[in-house]
Amino acid sequence: MSKLQDDAFRDSIGTINEEGKRSWIFPKKTSGKFFKYRVIVSWFLLTFLILAPFVKINGNQFLMFNVLERKFNIFGFTFWPQDFHIFVISMLIGVIFVALFTVVFGRIFCGWICPQTIFMEMVFRRIEYWIDGDRNAQIKLDKQEWNAEKIKKRLLKWFAFFVISFIIANVFLAYLSGSNELIEMVEQGPANNIGTLIALLIFTAVFYFIYAWFREQVCIIACPYGRLQGALLDDKSIIVAYDYVRGERETGRGKVVKGENRETVGKGDCIDCKLCVNVCPTGIDIRNGTQLECINCTACIDECNIVMDKVGLPLGLIRYASEEEITKKAKFEFTPRMKGYSAILVILTGIFIGMLFLRNDVEATVLRLPGQLFEHKGENISNVYTYKIVNKTTKDFNDVHFKLADPKGEAKKVGAAHFKVPKEGMISGTLFIEINPAFLNGDKTKITLEVYDGNRLIETETTNFLGPRSFN
Ligand code: SF4
Ligand code: SF4
Repeated sequence: MSKLQDDAFRDSIGTINEEGKRSWIFPKKTSGKFFKYRVIVSWFLLTFLILAPFVKINGNQFLMFNVLERKFNIFGFTFWPQDFHIFVISMLIGVIFVALFTVVFGRIFCGWICPQTIFMEMVFRRIEYWIDGDRNAQIKLDKQEWNAEKIKKRLLKWFAFFVISFIIANVFLAYLSGSNELIEMVEQGPANNIGTLIALLIFTAVFYFIYAWFREQVCIIACPYGRLQGALLDDKSIIVAYDYVRGERETGRGKVVKGENRETVGKGDCIDCKLCVNVCPTGIDIRNGTQLECINCTACIDECNIVMDKVGLPLGLIRYASEEEITKKAKFEFTPRMKGYSAILVILTGIFIGMLFLRNDVEATVLRLPGQLFEHKGENISNVYTYKIVNKTTKDFNDVHFKLADPKGEAKKVGAAHFKVPKEGMISGTLFIEINPAFLNGDKTKITLEVYDGNRLIETETTNFLGPRSFN
């Protein structure tokens, strides 16, 4: 914490004025080294985000989160409700990965990877700059009376925002219901898919509200991740930080005085131009220290570096640094907490990969019908079972049938013995198993049932078979 700062700034947030009303943020356009890198990363991620539901691997959508049908595709692997444990582990890995990154690099995720930041800063904000101009022009336009120019600009901006929101809603739907379904619905036309059209318009309205009005408040008020910062960050975390030791020195910040050696007179290197504040999309002053509103977007780093360059002072007054680096000139250190998170991450990733490759493409469940004992059928003993076969692949199984592998006996399915299990589908039914008492080991015998598709064994299932005690 800066020796000059007090905590009064924490009593209010930059987006709410003294009357408790929304204080609109007009961030200045950014440029600079980090911005250029962020543009590259953002366009790469945007391309990925938009294309991922349309890319197929072995016929599976690359990414899909079909909550209604409880079917999820991650990197082309299909996860069914039966694979929920693997899905949970993949989510845990994601959470720990983000937590580890937060401990080490602060909110790097928010500034560089979060879709909210990318859409807001790299898509909607760019359109806004294009139509309304930079910060000063935007402030002027906001204050000005409604006239032809303002109406034209506002209508153009709202229309552009609506179109982009509608596109995002379509991509969102491709993630939720699958890109094939989306393409099919587009081909059939909106009149034949009124329900989907209404859902799309609701999503569009939500995205429009977020990007046209709610904006940075998502990060400040709504996002739970931002709230975790207090628990995850420590003095060793590398965050976007103002070097207050250098920026303030003995006498504090101050304007540039020609010919003055700031270090000799004890003046800080911050020239108090407030450009780092003007450029901030969440409306904070980074010079007050770490704040949960800071999304680590690096705009203030770029802007301050431009200023430092202009006035001939060293760059990096605002930079990626830890509190310890600023106060003690300490080098980066891999702390026990980071080691702990890394170890958990490695272990979970190992378990996840193992589970992924050991996972079956077919899931068969054979359970004895509850409440039923056994029946005599001629010379044999018969038990009744229910079965469920899930085909997780993208190919139909056309000739599925059961065989009792051990002990000797017969598996008799109710209905046709050979049946079809469609791709990504599930078939359930009833099955009788008949075994000669000579092959039973008392009142409870372990049996092995095999499931074939044609000649190919696709699953083996073991269960219990009940028989009379006298055959012990
Ligand atoms: S941009 Fe740099 S010099 Fe200007 S106020 Fe911010 S920290 Fe100080
Ligand atoms: S303080 Fe700097 S890094 Fe943080 S949100 Fe504002 S501009 Fe971005």
